[in-house]
Amino acid sequence: MNSDRSTGFLDNLKASACIHCGLCLASCPTYVETGNENLSPRGRIYLMRAMDKGLIPTTENSAIAIDSCLGCRACEAVCPSGVRYGELLEETREHLNRSVHRGWKESLLTKVFIEGILAHPERMEIALTPARWIKQTGLDRFLPASLREPLSFIDKKRPAQESLPSVSRTTRATQRGKVALIVGCVMDVMFRETHRSTIRLLLNGGYDVVIPQAQGCCGALFSHGGNMLEARRCAIKNLAAFEVSDLEAVVINAAGCGSTLKEYGTLLGQDPKWAQAAMAFSAKTRDLSELLDPEWIEWKPPQFGKVTYQDACHLAHAQRITEAPRNLVKRVAGGAYVEMPESDLCCGSAGSYNLTQPEMADRLRRRKTGHILSTNAEVVVTSNPGCLLQMRAGIHAAKRDDIQVLHIADFLAAHLPD
Ligand code: SF4
Ligand code: SF4
Repeated sequence: MNSDRSTGFLDNLKASACIHCGLCLASCPTYVETGNENLSPRGRIYLMRAMDKGLIPTTENSAIAIDSCLGCRACEAVCPSGVRYGELLEETREHLNRSVHRGWKESLLTKVFIEGILAHPERMEIALTPARWIKQTGLDRFLPASLREPLSFIDKKRPAQESLPSVSRTTRATQRGKVALIVGCVMDVMFRETHRSTIRLLLNGGYDVVIPQAQGCCGALFSHGGNMLEARRCAIKNLAAFEVSDLEAVVINAAGCGSTLKEYGTLLGQDPKWAQAAMAFSAKTRDLSELLDPEWIEWKPPQFGKVTYQDACHLAHAQRITEAPRNLVKRVAGGAYVEMPESDLCCGSAGSYNLTQPEMADRLRRRKTGHILSTNAEVVVTSNPGCLLQMRAGIHAAKRDDIQVLHIADFLAAHLPD
């Protein structure tokens, strides 16, 4: 057992903001599922502060409650005391990374698969090749269900990988300026067509779109796991790649990346060279839904039956954006729109959580699938690649492949005028 009594890893001002009122408990997916105070925001904050003050040692056991946190930040969004839970979580995870020895399986998953492959589009493309071959040849049907299910989200056909145009100019009469698109890592490999939809939407909205070529991973895959050093490196690479002064906005279509980009100012706040540029970059960052007014575009009539919407946690809770995407979806779907129960409760994807905490991820996925089925929707719309894959896997497991889960950009683009 490792034990590290090093203290003072938390920002005291942030940590002491919690008044233990418990108002966040009902919003916390792991508490809602288990009823266990240790797996609630309040319980985790007690634990963080006790480790920070050296009242209990930092061990594998104390890491369990922190590891099981989704980082969904639903607690932060409802906290009357303004506790910045996401930052406390990152500080604690950074401390755990320094202090607790992880087994080889966990290290392999985090260091090799998540940080070594997922965060690098070119490596991910290579890693997906054998999985696509198994799907294409139909060999997946001979695999046990536990291996078949994760493959269910991989498109049989190799997705079109033609490069995205580095500059696209709008032909709309009303011109709204130039925006720069962040293409990301997972999004760019697995959802490049969604980027094409995003560009078409922005052009129809009156924006010129540029894609700076020197950009890279936003850093979310690192910061969510407490690897703040690498997260800062990613941020600096992007700051160097984007000249934001002549942009209307830096636009992002993945909620998890969007919250990280909007927090570059905090991430690099102590960096004398980059702090100012980071603040300027974050101030310019907008989710796609924030940049489109539903009335700017002549949408086609609804192309689907009933449509529902799942809030991506990092859009709803971290960025507090719930109305803008809903307004777009409602405008396009008209009377076919239906709200989903618990639409703002995490689906269990939470970045790489479904890989590192499969049991809780599966419980939340089944809960979410039940709510999707209760709406009788034909289409579920959301704003984050992880949520898409998680809900598709849930729907596949429920043998309801007739239900589509679409990124909001693809859903809206299906209704653009010809
Ligand atoms: S995090 Fe906020 S809502 Fe939760 S117990 Fe602390 S003060 Fe209350
Ligand atoms: S981030 Fe999410 S899972 Fe973690 S304590 Fe807050 S509400 Fe619970």
